[in-house]
Amino acid sequence: MFLTRRAMLRSAAATCALTGSGCASTLANTLFWRDQPPRHPPPGTRAFVRRMFGDLDRRRVWDAHAHVLADGGAGSGGYVNPRFTESYGGRLEKALFLASGGIVDDEKMEEHFVERTLSFWRLTNPQGKIVLLAFDQVVDDQGQEVPAQSTFYTPNEWVANIAKNNADVLFAASVHPYRKDALDRLNAAHEMGAVAMKWLPNSQAIDTRDPRCKPLYRRLAELGLPLIVHAGEEQAAASVDEDAGNPLRLRHALDEGCRVVVAHAAGLGEAQDLDGSGSMAAYDLFRRMLDESQYQGRLFADISAMTQFNRTGDALNATIRDQQVHQYLINGSDYPLPAIDFLVSTRWLEKLGYLSAEDRIQCNRVFEVNPLLFDFCVKRALRYEEDGVVHKFSDIVFESARLFDPPAA
Ligand SMILES: [Zn+2]
Repeated sequence: MFLTRRAMLRSAAATCALTGSGCASTLANTLFWRDQPPRHPPPGTRAFVRRMFGDLDRRRVWDAHAHVLADGGAGSGGYVNPRFTESYGGRLEKALFLASGGIVDDEKMEEHFVERTLSFWRLTNPQGKIVLLAFDQVVDDQGQEVPAQSTFYTPNEWVANIAKNNADVLFAASVHPYRKDALDRLNAAHEMGAVAMKWLPNSQAIDTRDPRCKPLYRRLAELGLPLIVHAGEEQAAASVDEDAGNPLRLRHALDEGCRVVVAHAAGLGEAQDLDGSGSMAAYDLFRRMLDESQYQGRLFADISAMTQFNRTGDALNATIRDQQVHQYLINGSDYPLPAIDFLVSTRWLEKLGYLSAEDRIQCNRVFEVNPLLFDFCVKRALRYEEDGVVHKFSDIVFESARLFDPPAA
């Protein structure tokens, strides 16, 4: 079904682009629209879901990485870059994001987005919590906001408010370090209950080595808040500076005592080896830091998005196989990405040996009703076989709550 849909999408998009006609949202809705309300998987699949939870402590099973899109329509103060509405490709991309999650692009988009996300989460694990990420704008060297370069903007206050009104939601702030009042904003976010800081340096144009980051690293360390930071190549949000994703630059944060969570375990693309010469897989640079004893217990990675078709391969194999690393891995979904059908192909995962045929069928059934539960089940079912030994992610990876525990006294 996945291939048919993707092929349909491609040809339909090509037709529209060639003729210059058609409506992006109609196309996306025709192909991806999920008009079904979020619901539990069908009876035949529930035993599978129970098996996927296994012996996990469900109160500790959190989603540590979920995005919220805000277009300002319901007063959030956020926006999705207007470039999305200026080109056909951009409109289609936005419409796909929304239609995949079952959202209508109307003035209530942002409210509906939050409602859907929370419904999906509550049907996934009502005993756990979901961490929703704010997303700051691009800020230039002079400290001025640059909306034209920002892919989207999800304000801290808005996400903090969602967390305030929902006991199972936690809020991760996003403050661009080049803002003149960055430290004040971090403190304000902390007062509002922030449990982490989120940066996407490639898209937000943040050089994590910049001296302006230092006071924030120190404050985060004092507050015990982790910095969830993208590393490696970025493909979902428009990238401004790919070098900004170099994992080795994050030593600047670690050296200030800050806990760092490398999003997606830097599992995509290459980066310059700042300790030597040439470039190598970004994952290997992250892995090198993990072996540096001074960072032990401070450096983590999340496995969000690692099952996407463009991320399967060496980094995923290594993270599954390397049991030593599991204590430093945290699960997160990178929602709404798992809602986009073709990004995680169970057919592809089965073909590469990551999923059994039976698990694939069950995962697909879960996808039809709940992309968040789907993301969890796929990662729980994931297997990597080498020399006759089957490796899986350890339970601890999925008990993401531990990242947010207060430090032991
Ligand atoms: Zn993300």
